[in-house]
Amino acid sequence: MDEARWLEVSLTVNNELAEAVAEVLGRFIPNGVVVESSVAFLNEDDTGTPLDTVRVYGYIPIDEHIEATRQRLNEALWHLSQIQPLPEPVYRPLHDQDWMTAWKQHYHPIPIGNKLLILPAWIERQDATRIPVRIDPGMAFGTGTHPSTQLCLEMLETYVHPEQPVIDIGCGSGILSIAAVKLGSRHALAVDIDPAALRGTRENAAANGVEKQIEVGQGSLQDILNGCFSIRRAPLVLANILAPILIEMLGQGLERTLSPGGTLILAGILDEQIHRVDASAQRASLHLIEKRQINDWVALAYQTR
Ligand code: SAH
Repeated sequence: MDEARWLEVSLTVNNELAEAVAEVLGRFIPNGVVVESSVAFLNEDDTGTPLDTVRVYGYIPIDEHIEATRQRLNEALWHLSQIQPLPEPVYRPLHDQDWMTAWKQHYHPIPIGNKLLILPAWIERQDATRIPVRIDPGMAFGTGTHPSTQLCLEMLETYVHPEQPVIDIGCGSGILSIAAVKLGSRHALAVDIDPAALRGTRENAAANGVEKQIEVGQGSLQDILNGCFSIRRAPLVLANILAPILIEMLGQGLERTLSPGGTLILAGILDEQIHRVDASAQRASLHLIEKRQINDWVALAYQTR
């Protein structure tokens, strides 16, 4: 039998704790945490009485760091348990097949902002008023369930200029580049250091019929600045990575990827990390024009001075 590729972690808690537990799991689970509430049918006439127990779960990819990840997750849950008692997390290794089936059952279309609808390839489009962005929730980052991705998509809707190019650093599944093109951008440069992300971006771009407008490149900030791709700068640049990486990039000339007066959207930032990211952005002569937040996650929009 194939080796297990995913480790399911689940906790059954009361409604009150579900959000806090989901937030903790979300820090370790790239593809989204499922919060499953249940109902009981107490008699024949009962149309479903909500129970106060909720199963919160998700899947951690099994890689060489799995034990370290599991330990960090246990520690994070332990911290939470100091505030309110928690049950022990239950771990169960899963095979890809199970994972996909489990995932498909729980993946629903996600409306974002005023215009977009993120949906997996196998679901028929239901809402004809929204622009569909089809993402195969395979293994690459960026399925649309993460708050950071959602914040970026909302900001994208606000800041994208019709016909102008965008640069997407750390493209993952390609979700932001695909959405940008669907919102009117003429060209998106999508780069990532992970070859699996680049494959995912190409496949998702093709599934959305926008592969001609998306340039997929392996690399990072330095490669863009060094002119390895067709554009070096754009009026809109997106980077949904993680605060320490963003800070490093701000020290390496991230602002130079912006056309004069351009907008930079940064995400993957936790509330408590804002001041450090902002200090680096200010040193790079950027000023904050908007901040959006979902739970602990924030996205920041900057403009060149
Ligand atoms: N843009 C997607 C995916 C975000 S996940 C979304 O908004 O949902 C972050 C991605 O950044 C991952 O695919 C990871 O491989 C990539 N990444 C991490 N460090 C990077 C770096 N230094 N340069 C470029 N990409 C990086």
